[in-house]
Amino acid sequence: MAKRMPLIAGNWKMNNNHLEAIALVQKLAFALNDKDYDNAEVVVLPPFTDIRSVQTLVDGDKLRIGFGAQDISAHDKGAYTGEISGAMLAKLECSYVLVGHSERREYHNEDDALVNAKVKAAYKNGIVPILCVGEGLEVRKAGAQVEHVLAQLDGALKEITAEQAEKIVVAYEPVWAIGTGEVATPEDAQEVCAAIRARLAELYSPEVADAVRVLYGGSVKGDNAPGIMAKADVDGALVGGACLKADEFAKVIRFRE
Ligand code: PEP
Repeated sequence: MAKRMPLIAGNWKMNNNHLEAIALVQKLAFALNDKDYDNAEVVVLPPFTDIRSVQTLVDGDKLRIGFGAQDISAHDKGAYTGEISGAMLAKLECSYVLVGHSERREYHNEDDALVNAKVKAAYKNGIVPILCVGEGLEVRKAGAQVEHVLAQLDGALKEITAEQAEKIVVAYEPVWAIGTGEVATPEDAQEVCAAIRARLAELYSPEVADAVRVLYGGSVKGDNAPGIMAKADVDGALVGGACLKADEFAKVIRFRE
């Protein structure tokens, strides 16, 4: 069995201007030590307008903090007003990009076909997609969460090769837990994360399934992170609200302590 390096990724959403971005990354770097970076890979996902500032800081100070974007255009270039291409993100040295976050699916009508096109755009530009999947409250109440999430996974991975798939990060984020303070139980998280891994084994191979990091996201904080991360198929967290405070985010990163 592969030993997967946990990934703790902070989704800043639409918060922090470029000066605030620098201050937050500096505070985070100050709060973390070598042991923390050995415990987990640390990534921040700022708004597009902050990426250049974060890149300059990370590069200049040789920080062990990775960074990426919250969205990517499905198109390569051209007349797509307001869009940001994968090539632009790659030029800024983004390592990761969120694809299919529930807020994009809900407020920007992103469907599985568009999510699939965005996953392809990320790979085309050497950027690792953090593919977000998750069910709403109605689906959860009906007990159909696994079925729902696996359909999203299948849709996002259409025509994605095994070689590409083994690099993907999948974030299971139940929509009812995002920004609500209502965190899934470790057992809820494990159920769906294990099902995602089993599907990856079916679609590709046990080796691919074993290599992929499956994260949990939804109201993760310093005090609930250890219980969730203790589960066998949970390889880290996608953190929203709690990543805006350097000390709280650092606490999540230190989930083993
Ligand atoms: C998210 O936006 O991906 C998220 C998990 O948010 P929060 O941690 O605030 O629930």
